[in-house]
Amino acid sequence: MKDEHSKPTASQNPARELLWTIEHHFRGWTCSQCEWKEAVPTLLNDPDAKTAFDRLAIAKFRKHNCADHAIRLPSSGAESFTARIRKLVSKGFKPKDAVELVVQEVSIEYAGDHTAVAQAQDEGEDFLRRLRSGLI
Ligand SMILES: [Zn+2]
Repeated sequence: MKDEHSKPTASQNPARELLWTIEHHFRGWTCSQCEWKEAVPTLLNDPDAKTAFDRLAIAKFRKHNCADHAIRLPSSGAESFTARIRKLVSKGFKPKDAVELVVQEVSIEYAGDHTAVAQAQDEGEDFLRRLRSGLI
């Protein structure tokens, strides 16, 4: 393990965060500070393969230099369900309860829109899987 903190550079932003992002044409990891992104392969369904992809994306995220990318503009889209789950967990909810709560909220908010509910469930499962794998 190399210690990245020993070589700080002016362009490094300690406040940057790896975000799970789902938009109309994109699904994958993004940086909170710049336009760096790593799209998840669309055919990735196997949990182990997903975890391997996440590991790789996290490693790439740590290595990227925000200065090499355009500055991220504030997103006009709604925050991902994952972001909502994370918020609840940071407030002290157990991860599993947070996932259930967000799925319940989504099924009310989207009034039975099965696609939205399925996506919330999907993101919830991914969230718990990453937690179990020690990725987040
Ligand atoms: Zn960045």
